[in-house]
Amino acid sequence: MAEKRDYYEVLEVPKNATADEIKKAYRKKALQYHPDRNPGDKEAEEKFKEAAEAYGVLSDEQKRARYDKYGHAGVNGQDFSGASMNDIFSQFGDIFSDLFGGGGGGFSFNFGNGFGGSGFGGGSQKPVYRGSNLRLRVKLTLEEINSGVKKKVKVNKYVTCQKCKGSGSEDGQTETCKTCGGRGQRMMRQGFFTQVSTCPTCGGEGRVIKKKCPACNGDGIVKGEEVIELDIPAGVMEGMQLSVRGKGNAGARNGVPGDLLIIIEEEKNPLFERDEANLIHNLFISMPQAALGCNVEVPCIGGKVSIKIPAGTQSGDIMRVRGKGLPVLNGYGRGDLIINVNVWTPKKLSKDEEKLMKDLLESENFKPKPGANDKSAFDKIRDFFR
Ligand SMILES: [Zn+2]
Ligand SMILES: [Zn+2]
Repeated sequence: MAEKRDYYEVLEVPKNATADEIKKAYRKKALQYHPDRNPGDKEAEEKFKEAAEAYGVLSDEQKRARYDKYGHAGVNGQDFSGASMNDIFSQFGDIFSDLFGGGGGGFSFNFGNGFGGSGFGGGSQKPVYRGSNLRLRVKLTLEEINSGVKKKVKVNKYVTCQKCKGSGSEDGQTETCKTCGGRGQRMMRQGFFTQVSTCPTCGGEGRVIKKKCPACNGDGIVKGEEVIELDIPAGVMEGMQLSVRGKGNAGARNGVPGDLLIIIEEEKNPLFERDEANLIHNLFISMPQAALGCNVEVPCIGGKVSIKIPAGTQSGDIMRVRGKGLPVLNGYGRGDLIINVNVWTPKKLSKDEEKLMKDLLESENFKPKPGANDKSAFDKIRDFFR
């Protein structure tokens, strides 16, 4: 089975969304994926159920708190994958009633399928709690992207409780769960159907801790912080997500930790625009420099490089300095430094300069001769990359 998506992602709400925002988000999803609007669309149906499951958890204050702390394993979110549409409507009818004006009754639903897929394999099994993933945005300069960078970051997160070593028990003792009598499951009758779900008290384990650890209230994790060293490779890009396995929130009761997801942000650089591994620099030269040709220094990462501007260079001409761009991520070599040449026209002229310009005005060579050089900037760049 595919891994469950984060409930907040499913509803597309931030982690700190209010109850009202969550309700609104769910209504939106429910409308979008409603089976009556997407007849026969299995994917829409799955999305509809997924949203219902997410809402079931996030709309319940206690469940939401547990979810925030333990992730999916902490809430035993009602799995709707085998549930009938009717069941979803009976659960969240109030939402639909003011949407469609009929408590879900405005639609006809197939009652026949029951809860085909929501049973458990039987027998109690120890649940493994998975800590939730953490997200962290990291802003990098082009220089850091160029070289790759190690960064130490302090992350606030759930860590294993040191007092009980993550067991959640003060003395290590457990006893049979009274709610389920040790079976780890709970049976609920609904009309013709019996729904089997994981025991909410013991989480399916069949046993509960006798004396909860006072430091973590039996969860095995506490709020804390960790300094984590990130090793960011050269060539990363804005919006890229790197995952540091096992560095997210600790899992409750010595469960599996979540991952730390690093989202890369790129600091704006006034000198360069980035096109994957290539860097683009806007160079301004004077009219005489363009006409006569010259050597100029242009910036590159960490220094300067000298380039030769040929006589007769036009504004919009493009030059390339090979290998002076950024390293290719997980690849070989480097991109290029691309120089976009602009000829600078002075805004003010002295009397002498004006006289010179007026002389040039009549000169045949100074009259524009479009044809060979009238390609658009876009065409030039396209030709360039061919
Ligand atoms: Zn503890
Ligand atoms: Zn139980």
